[in-house]
Amino acid sequence: MIKRQTTISRIFKLNGIGLHTGKEVNMEFLPRREFGIAFNLNGILIPARYDMVRDTRLSTQIGDNGASIATIEHLMAAFYFAGITNCLVYIDGPEIPIMDGSAWEFYHAMWRAGIYEFPEEKVYLKVLKPVEVKHNDSWIRIKPLNTLDITMTIDFRPPVGVQKKRVMDVENASSIINSRTFGFIEELEAIQKAGLAKGASLDNAIAIGEDSIVNPQGLRYSKELVNHKILDLIGDLYTSGYRVLGKVEANKTGHFLNNMLLKEVFSSEENYKLY
Ligand code: ZN
Repeated sequence: MIKRQTTISRIFKLNGIGLHTGKEVNMEFLPRREFGIAFNLNGILIPARYDMVRDTRLSTQIGDNGASIATIEHLMAAFYFAGITNCLVYIDGPEIPIMDGSAWEFYHAMWRAGIYEFPEEKVYLKVLKPVEVKHNDSWIRIKPLNTLDITMTIDFRPPVGVQKKRVMDVENASSIINSRTFGFIEELEAIQKAGLAKGASLDNAIAIGEDSIVNPQGLRYSKELVNHKILDLIGDLYTSGYRVLGKVEANKTGHFLNNMLLKEVFSSEENYKLY
């Protein structure tokens, strides 16, 4: 467990295509003395924080002053797993590149850059009271615990069905980092007609066909889909700005409810403490 604020030890660059725009995006990662992860898009600074979230329909999108950046969740999960609390990311497009559909390439680049530790503490958010948010049959709740423990349930049409997974030691859950995003063939067509998912391919997403996985290589893990939902949740929780501690149970949750949960936690100072 990290104890203090950290940043990357040296500058690095990454590029790739946006899942929705299909366009190439360049990013430059810089060490940052100030607390938190923030983006700089055309001179506009956008903190990667839950209160900057503007859209949660297909990804977690943050925005400010007319600028917005979509699909931040996998990159945020990579910062979480790499143990980095402070970083400034210069980006030249409105969407974080999708890379291989997981957090792996981001995480690996951070790991190679190395970590620099500052003397300041206060990187954890410990939940002190149970907090829950619901929407139809989807819900997510968090209870007090000294670690981050996540149980996720998903329920999709066959061949996926109901899948449940518990990760008790999230900070060291390597099978979550490289689990890829996924989509259903019939939804892809509708999304592409709406001008989105232009960059989607079998190189950056798991495609679920009528009765099987379309990707010739199949899955990386038998529970890769539910793993990926946990990855999204970790990335979304990290938009709290802190490493969240608590026992999380989630049923068919997504970016909208993940964001609502943080808003609910922060709605009362009795719900949490920072240290
Ligand atoms: Zn995702």
